[in-house]
Amino acid sequence: MSAKSIDSLRKIISHNLCNRCGSCVGLSGGSIAFRDKTGAYLPEILNEPNEELAAQILEACPGKDFNFKSYRESIYTNNPSFHVYTGPFERIGIGYATDESIRRTGASGGILSAILIWLLENKKIEGAVVTRMSETEPWLTEPFIAKTREEILEASQSKYIITSVNEILPEMQSFNGKLAYVGLPGQIQSIRKLQAMKHPSVQNIAYIFGPFYGNTLHFSSVNSFLKSYGEKDHTQIKKLYFRYGEWPGNMRVELKSGRVIELPKFHANYLIPFHILKNSLLCSDLSNEFTDISGGDAWAPQYEERGKGFSMIIARSAAGTEILNQMIADGSVFMQDIDVDEAITMHSHGYDLKKRGTFIRIRFRKMLRLPIPDYGYKIEGFSFSRYLMELVLLSLFILLGTRPARFIVELIPPSTIGKLFEKTRKAWKKSTYKIKRNQLTL
Ligand SMILES: Cc1cc2nc3c(=O)[nH]c(=O)nc-3n(C[C@H](O)[C@H](O)[C@H](O)COP(=O)(O)OP(=O)(O)OC[C@H]3O[C@@H](n4cnc5c(N)ncnc54)[C@H](O)[C@@H]3O)c2cc1C
Repeated sequence: MSAKSIDSLRKIISHNLCNRCGSCVGLSGGSIAFRDKTGAYLPEILNEPNEELAAQILEACPGKDFNFKSYRESIYTNNPSFHVYTGPFERIGIGYATDESIRRTGASGGILSAILIWLLENKKIEGAVVTRMSETEPWLTEPFIAKTREEILEASQSKYIITSVNEILPEMQSFNGKLAYVGLPGQIQSIRKLQAMKHPSVQNIAYIFGPFYGNTLHFSSVNSFLKSYGEKDHTQIKKLYFRYGEWPGNMRVELKSGRVIELPKFHANYLIPFHILKNSLLCSDLSNEFTDISGGDAWAPQYEERGKGFSMIIARSAAGTEILNQMIADGSVFMQDIDVDEAITMHSHGYDLKKRGTFIRIRFRKMLRLPIPDYGYKIEGFSFSRYLMELVLLSLFILLGTRPARFIVELIPPSTIGKLFEKTRKAWKKSTYKIKRNQLTL
């Protein structure tokens, strides 16, 4: 029995099913740790936990399974609308924080930070679990509990390198007061599992929020970015931003030498195929379907051209919808409602990646007899050409992830390769425009 849980965990870790949520580390009392955050960033089992603990960790691990349907039914008792792409929703809209300083600091419209600040200032929470760049190692991310407006803003903006928020489960457990929690889909899936287990580490969580999630990158992306500009030592980083400045923002590195390197976000996206965390490609959740409220970028020319920052907001639960309604009523948030079809069209390429691509990739893995995640649902009925496209994409990811490919791209100016990448993204968006109208089988 003892060997079984720990062996299952080992299998998850070694077969690419680990999304690095950090729960195993947080629950293990020191026997599991991330020791290589600038490398593979995989949990390492330092001492085998006893079977009881190993079984708990396994139950909380979202890598092997997370049943979307049963969790949806048990969490969203408010009878929300539902679409298999967006998940449950009561309201969907495009908006932003009306406080200019929050909007400017946030990744898109500053909605997630505005909600956290509003909850703090209205005494509905005492702290918020968020992720900032580390103070001691500013090239790495770190989760912490923010207790002031300033701390929430310090943690705003998207971090496109791996984060493991649930490492701080012990701190969440001992926190004296109500918490809001912000995390990526895999991190939230584990939190939902822990809630179902009635685990004390999540007892203080009152609200859950999260950004949309296309993919995340290994730390090698930062090293490669630096190398392209002739810099070799990431420990010389003083500040690292992924969405600096006016929306959609820039990847920006400030070095101890005083040198500043900046590249528009859309151009920095060229790093994705070279450094993507392969587990991102097994995640079927783009819009963070198990939150109270999710926030994404409002990707559409009419907003992108205007800059300033626009978010897509999805309120799902009764509690989330009430917060959003109150914030709109008191003027903290501006939002214009849109219908679900428009929301899907705006993220058509993202849904193509997550809701078509993921299930095709899972099928390929099954054919290769590799372990696969069980989400309790699958989407089928894709055309032969979509399978073919996935094969091409997968081959590209494999090829571009190799050392020689990374070496070659570091010789090309990032602005050149970045422009090429942006053109490709636009073409993909155009080709997936009709995604919502296609007949798919659930
Ligand atoms: C890895 C990643 C991939 C994304 N992919 C997409 C996408 O494909 N399409 C899309 O529309 N939007 C995507 N987003 C979301 C988008 O970048 C914005 O985060 C979202 O629009 C919310 O903006 P905001 O201004 O409301 O958030 P902010 O007010 O800036 O608040 C962001 C909150 O998220 C937390 N956070 C940031 N990064 C992480 C992280 N890596 N792990 C855990 N918590 C984090 C911060 O601590 C902060 O509390 C992604 C975000 C991330 C982090």
